Amino acid sequence: ESLKRIEEVDGQVKAFLTVDEEGARKRADQLDAELAKEEKRGLLAALPVGLKDNLCTEGLRTTCASKLLANYQPIYNATVVEKLAAAQTITVGKTNMDEFAMGSSNENSGFYPTHNPWDLERVPGGSSGGSAAAVAAGEVYFALGSDTGGSIRQPAAFCGVVGLKPTYGRVSRYGLVAYASSLDQIGPLTKNVEDAAYVLQVIAGHDAKDSTSAKVDVPDYLSHLTGDIRGLKVAVPKEMMGEGIEPGVREQVKNALAKLEELGAVIEEVSLPHADYAVATYYLIAPAEASSNLARYDGVRYGVRKEGKNLLDLYLETRSQGFGPEVKRRIMLGTYALSSGYYDAYYLKAQKVRTLIRQDFEQIFAKYDVVVGPTAPTIAFKIGEKIDNPLTMYLNDILTIPVNLAGLPAISVPCGLSEGMPVGLQIIGKAFDEATILRVAHAFE
Ligand code: GLN
Repeated sequence: ESLKRIEEVDGQVKAFLTVDEEGARKRADQLDAELAKEEKRGLLAALPVGLKDNLCTEGLRTTCASKLLANYQPIYNATVVEKLAAAQTITVGKTNMDEFAMGSSNENSGFYPTHNPWDLERVPGGSSGGSAAAVAAGEVYFALGSDTGGSIRQPAAFCGVVGLKPTYGRVSRYGLVAYASSLDQIGPLTKNVEDAAYVLQVIAGHDAKDSTSAKVDVPDYLSHLTGDIRGLKVAVPKEMMGEGIEPGVREQVKNALAKLEELGAVIEEVSLPHADYAVATYYLIAPAEASSNLARYDGVRYGVRKEGKNLLDLYLETRSQGFGPEVKRRIMLGTYALSSGYYDAYYLKAQKVRTLIRQDFEQIFAKYDVVVGPTAPTIAFKIGEKIDNPLTMYLNDILTIPVNLAGLPAISVPCGLSEGMPVGLQIIGKAFDEATILRVAHAFE
């Protein structure tokens, strides 16, 4: 059914870069046989899944939507891919994204943009836009994405699905192609909150192969979906409801807050005094880390190799032709911010501001259980609307970026429509307290 649906709609939606029809059918047959004789069913048995194309899949093309990796076939699986396989899922294909996860609209894909299934003239958000669109269009049951500055939550909001970014360290990043290593996290995009709890249950946990993955127990998430949020203390930062938020978005979020209150939550306004600096901080730290991470694409070790008259020339040709304009912009920004003489003024300063942003959240979480606001300041915008101005594009992540800088978990859950397009409610939790944000989102949903 999943393959049939892809056949029907993906010509328009373009959520996939690779559909592994043969592999999926083989896997389905294999699971049929396994499930017929085995007593034990995996938690996600026989569910078709889409994987963002920056998750390494053994023998299955993994491009990061970059021309440079157009032919790259990993020789190993990401830990999350292994864990899904152990839970008996079927990988149907690899989903489209902004190149190397840099972008908010999927327009930076080196191959083609994905279209929002709600309105094909609009973007699905990014960078996990293919994953969000695939779930929204019913092409797969759920998908995995990655979130460095909002890339799971913002596309989830734009496509009317649920998107969860776990706490930094909750899910192993082994086999996730690195963009900004201190910010990246893998998480689920699902049709509802219960599904997100199931998927997180499967992919969470310490992994010896990722030194930043945390040795923190994984609770039974499903048992937390009680529907009861009486007495829950909700903080709403005034910076998340003020200037720059579209009136239609603000209205839906206000309705959502009223609903949380009806359910027994106590809502109070708070302030995130350093929130104004989050985007600037992120656009120093993320490109700095990216410029270092992307140094490995030299045309020798991975992917496509262009001819050159000598080795330096080979590097130059491969990188000039392989990377798209946004990736080049980030490499240049990051290299500049890390250069001697500028390091203290930019990179080090950004790290200090990052600490202040984290402390803002710590102070709030000393008194409140969750922080709530919109996921994105706007509904899904039109394809082409922001692509010529990187700064307006960057500002679309203003509400999601602080969460990555602080390393916290957050979920986006649909909370109504504005101009016929979905709006996302963002619920941010304490570090490693995904259980509470899932409980709140589930009670609200
Ligand atoms: N849009 C942000 C960026 O371009 C975030 C992307 C992400 O979370 N991967 O960096």
